[in-house]
Amino acid sequence: MNDLSNTPLAPAPAPVINRADYRPPAWLVPEIALDFALSLDATRVKSTLKVERNAAADGSATLRLNGDGLVAQEVLVDGQAHNDWRMEGGDLLIDLPGDAHEISVETVINPAANTQLSGLYASNGMLCTQCEAEGFRRIAFFPDRPDVLSVYSVRMAGDKSAFPVLLSNGNPVAAGEAADGTHLAEWHDPWPKPSYLFALVAGDLVATRDQFVTRSGRTVDLAIYVRAGDEARTGHAMRSLIASMKWDEEVYGREYDLDLFNIVAVADFNAGAMENKGLNIFNTRYILADPETATDADYDAIEGVVAHEYFHNWSGNRVTCRDWFQLSLKEGFTVLRDQQFSADMGSAPVKRIEDVRILRAAQFPEDSGPLAHPIRPDSYQEISNFYTATVYNKGAEVIRMMTVLAGLDRFRKGTDLYFERHDGEAATCEDFVKAIEDGAGLDLAQFRRWYAQAGTPRVDVSLVHEGETATLTLRQTVPPTPGQPEKLPMVIPLRTALFDRATGKHRGEELLVLTEAEQSWAFDGFAQAPVLSINRGFSAPVAIRSPSSNEDLVFLAEHDDDPFARYEAMQQLVVQHLVAAVEGQLSDAERDAGRRAIGDAIAAVLADPALDDLMRGELLILPGESYLAEQIPAVDPSRVHDEREALKGWLGTTLGAAWRDLHDRCSAVPYSLSAEARGARKLKTLALVFLAAADAGEAARRAKAQYDAADNMTDRQGALMVLCGLETPERATALADFHDRFAGNMLVIDKWFSLQAGSLHPHAIDHVKALAEHADFTLTNPNRVRALYITFAANAGAFHAADGEGYKLLADLILQLDPINGNVAARCVPPLGRWRKVEPGRAKLMREQLERIAAVPDLSRDVREQVTRSLE
Ligand code: ZN
Repeated sequence: MNDLSNTPLAPAPAPVINRADYRPPAWLVPEIALDFALSLDATRVKSTLKVERNAAADGSATLRLNGDGLVAQEVLVDGQAHNDWRMEGGDLLIDLPGDAHEISVETVINPAANTQLSGLYASNGMLCTQCEAEGFRRIAFFPDRPDVLSVYSVRMAGDKSAFPVLLSNGNPVAAGEAADGTHLAEWHDPWPKPSYLFALVAGDLVATRDQFVTRSGRTVDLAIYVRAGDEARTGHAMRSLIASMKWDEEVYGREYDLDLFNIVAVADFNAGAMENKGLNIFNTRYILADPETATDADYDAIEGVVAHEYFHNWSGNRVTCRDWFQLSLKEGFTVLRDQQFSADMGSAPVKRIEDVRILRAAQFPEDSGPLAHPIRPDSYQEISNFYTATVYNKGAEVIRMMTVLAGLDRFRKGTDLYFERHDGEAATCEDFVKAIEDGAGLDLAQFRRWYAQAGTPRVDVSLVHEGETATLTLRQTVPPTPGQPEKLPMVIPLRTALFDRATGKHRGEELLVLTEAEQSWAFDGFAQAPVLSINRGFSAPVAIRSPSSNEDLVFLAEHDDDPFARYEAMQQLVVQHLVAAVEGQLSDAERDAGRRAIGDAIAAVLADPALDDLMRGELLILPGESYLAEQIPAVDPSRVHDEREALKGWLGTTLGAAWRDLHDRCSAVPYSLSAEARGARKLKTLALVFLAAADAGEAARRAKAQYDAADNMTDRQGALMVLCGLETPERATALADFHDRFAGNMLVIDKWFSLQAGSLHPHAIDHVKALAEHADFTLTNPNRVRALYITFAANAGAFHAADGEGYKLLADLILQLDPINGNVAARCVPPLGRWRKVEPGRAKLMREQLERIAAVPDLSRDVREQVTRSLE
């Protein structure tokens, strides 16, 4: 019984990093030179840092250079071999006598073995980097924190046939060839930047080129680098880039600041894209498009992400973040900017609706679950886990509210002041708020709570009509979230209108700013009770609880002049009905009445000649299962699924002729990228979706015909999506054709996986299991993993199988993937963390899988943190 010495030590839990503990860096690094001898499996990196003691910090004599898995081969201080360095964890520590020194360190790294895709890694024979947030420390020892800004000089040499293209940030300053088949390139970036914005690419790539002349007359050379064969699919990305550069000059007064702007597309990428200075690196899915292989949604996503990364040049690079708690400083603001850009490029109302739909599907559940955090978090263990819908999308909504409060012109004065004050700095969210306050002339004292408090505020509405007066009372509550049991009232700007029932018009919109827990407003001169239209344009990211009658909602769906409010009325009409149905509160008569109200509203939308088809499509889309499930405590997800499908079936039958006409009408519209043609494509597949819920045979015939006639991916994917949900012989034929037709095109094969993983088919879970064994499936490509498993986890009908098979399948994946790519594995945890929201039987099964993961000793820090928080 003396075996205590053999008891394995529990691994030390990862430290918790707290925002309150921020200290300025003890040492600054004004310059760094990097020298790479490139090879796929043994790249030698020599880094030379000019370091200076930071006068603004408490002067520690110890220089801490972060490292992650690096081994120092040699350490020189001022050119002399230095032997007093030591390692602490992965970090290299050196005690330095003076105030300024030159440090040189050499390491060798293996990009081919880097399956985490963080740092320098290999993808299809090319070398590329991803350094945000903490990947640079996997390349070189460095104070890897965003408030250390350096001027970078990069030299790289490598085999010319393997790596004909050599790229880094900034400008090329030298190139040369050696007799042994190697060549070299030197790059210099004049703009000081944090290490997370460093990038290097070496590979066999071809460029599509164009130019942009800035408003001050400088010519910028633009290039998009892809693998040979893909260059014909870069046109849309290039047009989007040029449009973004122009838009940022016109709308935010921001001009590009280098002579060249390079984009590289890579197939293996953890995120969507990365804004490295002058050398953006993109997931191929946000670059490559042509009508045959990319849907209209893909085109929109490319336009948005290209713009997003370009806009980071100012909101992110010229002004960066002081520390990672400030992530929303650059991400929230840049998402708002890309949303505004896309709204200007296409249909603003449709863009707004899509953005709100994403917020409700992804961010609302996050904000009401165990992973809820403020847009400026207070603590983390692994920062990669905080690249969330909250930091990005709610962050954008919070800044959008500032535009509502100030108006766009005054808001622009605020952003001008922000860029002027903080250009070249690593700033905080507080700096941003202060600049908007000063520049736009707003008092944002209480508004700052949006940065500190998590949780989606809920606003309960009552409208009482007495005599000629309508009194509107609003009561706000911010629900408790982890670590924040008590909340203070928020500033909630609500664009509001009261409609006259008789005229179908309102008397002008007002901005009501709710700042107290409860407030009332009186409106005179209403002989009849008016109809309330509130949170128009979704002016605040809150959940409105308004006891609107079906009649009022139908009225708004027909009359509201705010397109978002019209959409919202349609959604609310369906939400109220389905929530009541799921909760078993509907008598047969009530069910009939509810369905008829919805059916009439949909028929009106189908017939309304004033609507364009893109907007018509938005009004016809039923609220998603995850948004519906959010409204119901201890929900049985299969009940939500069944009720929603039943309603779809009823609408498919009742409006059968209208759906058939719609499908016929839209099928006659030829392919183009015009709004009209895109609207027709959207409605075409939507009609099939409703028909499929009513008459599988007819839907299968029509879908097969649409598939066979398709000259574009939107139609083809839409038809295949419908077929995938049906038990029909056309299903297998079309799936086989699709796979053959696009074999070798990774992005389209991803669609093949996700269509099956997301399908309504009763055996979708078995399909997912089989697909995991398919020769085309791999755990090393994040797009492929997401196509199969993230899609599956969002498919409530399959994922929430009552026996827990879906939960087990996802947990198996997380455990298998974690050693390969902890970052992507951690992104699969949140669906299991929703256990508190579902009925007790499933909740137990979900918890069991989380506990099973938690019991594994060697989890990545990423998965460990997400699983632990999900169980708390
Ligand atoms: Zn971003």
